[in-house]
Amino acid sequence: MKGKMKLRIFNIIKNTKVEGPGIRYCIWTQGCSRHCRGCQAVHTWAHNGGTLLDTDDIIEDILKQKDIEGVTFLGGEPFEQAQACGIIAREVKKSGLSVLCFTGGLLENLRVEEKNRLLLENTDLLIDGAFELEKLDYSRPWCGSSNQRYHFLTDRYNDSIFTKYKNKVEVNISKNGIIFMNGMGNFDEILQKLNLSK
Ligand code: SF4
Repeated sequence: MKGKMKLRIFNIIKNTKVEGPGIRYCIWTQGCSRHCRGCQAVHTWAHNGGTLLDTDDIIEDILKQKDIEGVTFLGGEPFEQAQACGIIAREVKKSGLSVLCFTGGLLENLRVEEKNRLLLENTDLLIDGAFELEKLDYSRPWCGSSNQRYHFLTDRYNDSIFTKYKNKVEVNISKNGIIFMNGMGNFDEILQKLNLSK
């Protein structure tokens, strides 16, 4: 029997090189109450959108992947579904893979709430802070604004990521012509250069 815990997701990419160290299984959670100005992921805000998946099915799928270094959670706001993400993160870590998690919240506030404990305990690198348009800065890997902070919660990663990785964007075009871009950069400018529109 499958577990009872569900995760509402916007999208999953099983193999991407632009959302953290190495090749990663990337989960965009659906639902974000923060509504940051300039957010590039407004389609992930609605709490009743996306698709509900069983966490056991997601875990099974992750563990089937070959050659991934780990899993990245982003959103949406992963901590709005912290328990379901935490269950997945725990199994990911048990298998020896790494966990990177983005949040619009701040670590010190997240630590206060018990519901966030499992996800925080099983995250190697937490990148926190809501996107701020006034502080736009693509100079650091995977981040869009200078206020965002990198917390190395385990010894899996360290400052070497800043020299090893740069921001990059992947453009995926499905068979039916739907464009999905991920990574970090000026998406509108890139689409213009490619002569595409969102
Ligand atoms: S926290 Fe992230 S997904 Fe949510 S509004 Fe801000 S930038 Fe967008």
